[in-house]
Order: sequence, then structure tokens, then C-alpha cells
Amino acid sequence: MTARMGFFTDTSICIGCKACEVACKEWNLVPEDGPLALTGDSYDNTGALGADTWRHVAFVEQRRDDDGLRWLMSSDVCKHCSSAACLEVCPTGALFRTEFSTVVVQPDICNGCGYCVPACPFGVIDRREDDGRAFKCTLCYDRLRDGLQPACATACPTDSIQFGELDELRQRARARVATLHDAGVAEARLYLEDEDDGVGGAGAFFLLLDEPEVYGLPPDPVSTTRDLPTLWRAAALAAGTLAAAVAAAFVGGRR
Ligand code: SF4
Ligand code: SF4
Repeated sequence: MTARMGFFTDTSICIGCKACEVACKEWNLVPEDGPLALTGDSYDNTGALGADTWRHVAFVEQRRDDDGLRWLMSSDVCKHCSSAACLEVCPTGALFRTEFSTVVVQPDICNGCGYCVPACPFGVIDRREDDGRAFKCTLCYDRLRDGLQPACATACPTDSIQFGELDELRQRARARVATLHDAGVAEARLYLEDEDDGVGGAGAFFLLLDEPEVYGLPPDPVSTTRDLPTLWRAAALAAGTLAAAVAAAFVGGRR
């Protein structure tokens, strides 16, 4: 069985160069996402993940208690969730789980219904304006099948984006947090590395230097399809009870 592969993004060493955004666009032939514009968010000119932005580097300018200023930079991406609601709601099977446990969209099977878009708890997957089909990071599925690592991880000059077997990445990340704590960076923490979280563990997790909300990430994401089996069971029970009551009333009325 192929090991689960994923990303560990260590934002503490991101320098905001955006080589990851460019490498992703180049390798995957992702079209430009409109003219280069000033968003008002520091050096962030893509704003958010989208159909044409599969890696997004956030720039957060933060004032410190000592009146100093710091930049938090973080390269965001699809989380390749264990419980991937996008995949579970797709009616055509366009989204599938690969042998590397990543989640990939097949554009030739996507019919543009858009069900996956509100299903994603991170706002990752998005439809293109021209024909409405959905796109997102494939974790460079084609490169993985050829034994290469994803383009963004290859281009990152600081190793902020690390690719590998998820179990090994988790160990590496915990060691890195311990090192940062020893160095006095008490606010260092991991985000989405826990397999018991609301998405059943993610294939892409992060080392952050502040609360997830500061980076535009949901603090406690939950798969939007997690409670569906319980809801369906309750609905089936209610329907069964109603049918039994109608049958009893019908039989009683004939006596
Ligand atoms: S982050 Fe969103 S698009 Fe990516 S696998 Fe999870 S649910 Fe799907
Ligand atoms: S390539 Fe690496 S250092 Fe540059 S912006 Fe992306 S994650 Fe940060």
C-alpha cells in the first residue's frame, strides 16, 4: 500500500517570495487570476485560494505589544482532508482519492454543478467563470506518479513547504515546534496535524505563529458531511414511525 503523502508548511520560515505560487501556476498551467492588483493587504495580490490560485501566500502585518511590527507569511493550499466533503457531495465522481490519499478533481468529468464549493469548510475549491468547472490543488498528482515532489515544494527556497510521508512530516513538525518553544517562540503551534480533528486529519497541515483566524483559517473546521449519516438515520426512523402510525390508523379505521 502506498504511504499517505502530504504537505507540512512551516510558516515560521516563509519569506513571502511567492515562488510557490508561480511554480504551481507554471507546472499546472493555471491561468492568471486577473490583472495584477493592489488588494490593500500588504504584498498579498491574490487575496485567497480560488479556481486560478491553488497556492496563496498570505501577508499579515501585525503590531506587537512592544510597538514593533512583524509580518506573518503563510502559503495556504487545499488540505486534502481525510473526510473530504467536496468529494463526498460530488454527484459525478469528478473528485476522487488517489493512491497517495490526496483529493483530486478530474476536469473532464466535472459538470460544473458547484456542489463541492459550499461543502468545503476552508473555502478552497472554486469554479472558473468561463465554463463553471471546479478546480483546486492536485498536490501535483502527475508529478507524484513520476516520483517527483510537487512543484511548490521544489521551488520553495527556505523549505517552508515540505513534502513527504505524512507520519514522518508530523514527527518533524512536532520536533520543530519543540525547537521554537526552546528558542522562546512560545506562540508556535501546529494546525490540522491532529487525526481526530473535524476533518479526520488533513493531508496538508501547518506550523503557525498565531491563532488560525489571524491567517484567515477557520479555528475549528468540521467536515460539512460529518453528521449526514446520523441525520439520515434520524430521518429514516422518523419516516418509519410515520408510516407505522398511518398503517395503524388505516387498520383501526376499517374495524
Ligand atoms: S480542503 Fe476543501 S477542497 Fe480540499 S479536500 Fe478538504 S474539503 Fe476538499
Ligand atoms: S516559496 Fe516558500 S518562502 Fe517563498 S512564499 Fe512560498 S512558502 Fe514562502
